[in-house]
Amino acid sequence: MRGVGIGGYEPVRIQSMASSPTTDVPATLEQIKRLESAGCELVRLAVPDKRAVQAFAEIRKNTSLPLIADIHFDYRLALQVLEVGADKIRLNPGNIGGPERTLQVAREAASRGVPIRVGINSGSVEEDLLVKHGGPVPEALVESALRQLELLAPVSDLQLVLSLKASDVWTTIQAYRSISQQTDWPLHIGVTEAGTPFTGTVRSSVGIGALLAEGIGDTLRVSLTGDVTEEVRVAWEILRSLGLRRRGVELISCPTCGRTEVDLLRIALQVEEALKEIQEPLRVAVMGCAVNGPGEARGADVGVACGNGSGLIFRQGQILRKVPEEKIVEELLAEIQLYLTELETH
Ligand code: SF4
Repeated sequence: MRGVGIGGYEPVRIQSMASSPTTDVPATLEQIKRLESAGCELVRLAVPDKRAVQAFAEIRKNTSLPLIADIHFDYRLALQVLEVGADKIRLNPGNIGGPERTLQVAREAASRGVPIRVGINSGSVEEDLLVKHGGPVPEALVESALRQLELLAPVSDLQLVLSLKASDVWTTIQAYRSISQQTDWPLHIGVTEAGTPFTGTVRSSVGIGALLAEGIGDTLRVSLTGDVTEEVRVAWEILRSLGLRRRGVELISCPTCGRTEVDLLRIALQVEEALKEIQEPLRVAVMGCAVNGPGEARGADVGVACGNGSGLIFRQGQILRKVPEEKIVEELLAEIQLYLTELETH
């Protein structure tokens, strides 16, 4: 998909979804641009009606990111959006109007070499499976997914991605663990409707992080209520913290304690904000004192260990200079800039 591979030895890919109405083409393109700068690799757009198909076509012409069309209820929209250049279709078999329609979309997608994500979620599980398993439990989600795989198996050349999301973290983890044992198709992982930035970040990090730590997951979305770029920042932090991918700044800052003699939170936040657009992998430490600070600061590419109204700037283990507190942020950022420039020229 436009150079973005999924599954196998490909890196775990980061997805998000535009929150603007797809029919508002300028707003959606602006969001896509911001998502791309934040490191998003695949963007999903809602396609609820024919006007959205036309808008999708327009958007497709104006971005190089792979675009996924999100289809509910009307399988004809899936067929139409394939015609205008969708790179992937996400459909929910629970509401697309039955197996024959799912098959029709799958055949058309396969003939165009376009993958489909079959998105199972708690709300899409068939009635008989809910009765059999006593609700949208992991077993029900998994059996529903296996049914879809069986249905789609005869479609030749079909490329599939599966997701089995639930808003409950344990249900999500258990469902993905089970399906990963039963299929080799790539899995898109995430905790659906995870919540506001605080709760959503925690819930997504626990659910997605647990799965990734077990080697499960080929693409992911962190679902947050709020600015879409926040989802991408959290996704990168999850991948970075597990050592799965490196991009941008890994900021280490100490929790502060009775030894801290500077306004460390302000310093750390200012540094984080100033560096959020940087894409090169970089480890930066902002530490509160001269007791444990130098150790961490030395281990970083660039760091500062703050003391009484001042800070020692470090670079790759070497102390460079001592600066007054009011100059710490400025000096640290200048040193980082110098470090990055030198990296580029070497
Ligand atoms: Fe306290 Fe220093 Fe540790 Fe920060 S680095 S928590 S100031 S001991």
